[in-house]
Amino acid sequence: MYLFKRVDQLRAFLNGGRTNNRTVGFVPTMGALHQGHLSLVERSLAENQVTVASIFVNPTQFNEASDLEKYPRTPGKDLEKLAKVGCTVAFLPEVSDMYPPGLDTNLELDFGTLDKTMEGSERPGHFNGVAQVVNRLLEIVTPEYLYMGQKDFQQQLIVREMTRLLQLNTQVVTVPTARENDGLAMSSRNVRLTTAARAQAPTLYQTLQAAKERLTKGEKVADIEHWALSTLQQETELRPEYFSIVDADTLLSLNSAASLPERIVACTAVWAGEIRLIDNLLLQGKL
Ligand code: AMP
Repeated sequence: MYLFKRVDQLRAFLNGGRTNNRTVGFVPTMGALHQGHLSLVERSLAENQVTVASIFVNPTQFNEASDLEKYPRTPGKDLEKLAKVGCTVAFLPEVSDMYPPGLDTNLELDFGTLDKTMEGSERPGHFNGVAQVVNRLLEIVTPEYLYMGQKDFQQQLIVREMTRLLQLNTQVVTVPTARENDGLAMSSRNVRLTTAARAQAPTLYQTLQAAKERLTKGEKVADIEHWALSTLQQETELRPEYFSIVDADTLLSLNSAASLPERIVACTAVWAGEIRLIDNLLLQGKL
């Protein structure tokens, strides 16, 4: 596996290898890699000749300095894991190379309804930061395919919309959420859960699955949301922030919709002590 820390090194490598019929797949991450990240890398490896995985803890998408500071950093182990699955290139840029003084990397995009709800309303500026870093990385890597996790459902929609608005030559591929055996969505933050919170955390996925069943049986969306929130609230270690059943393409609420859309997703965010967990499930339609 090649390891590059500088933009010019990565560019030189990619320019050399980009010949006829070779595609580059790209997996941006913030490190502390687990099987969820690796499933994106594996998908890219299966579909492209070259796979670049980046590790960059992007300061512009954190709302709280303490969250950024506490974000787990395990570069040695990450590189071992990437090498083990056969990743072609690991790219670990410095902040000064990603955001050089004198370069305006800010993006002024209108995401319409996509960044106004859920993670967008709870974490102001978060998605601007995400769009900024992904755009900057795409500018550097110029991949044909960009692999994003379903785990961050709203994020993959926003990145798709960004590639559409900027007319980028990159296609976004969304990869299903990788889960622990008990259903908890894999996340770098899971290692910070207390034992008691970890024991209750699978309730998120169980509640999402039950919501799907309830919708299939014809229960009203508002009633399911209400039921789900109160179910999550019953767990002593969990404090639900939202449980929203929305149109999976616009993220608009379904409460006032005359008929149900083709794709419906339930998204939830829950505090477990100091750790914020998110998860989602498509209740109707395909990824
Ligand atoms: P992060 O390092 O948290 O920024 O995540 C990097 C990429 O991995 C994002 O596209 C995430 O959606 C994706 N990802 C994180 N956790 C999972 C998971 N459990 N299953 C699938 N993809 C994931």
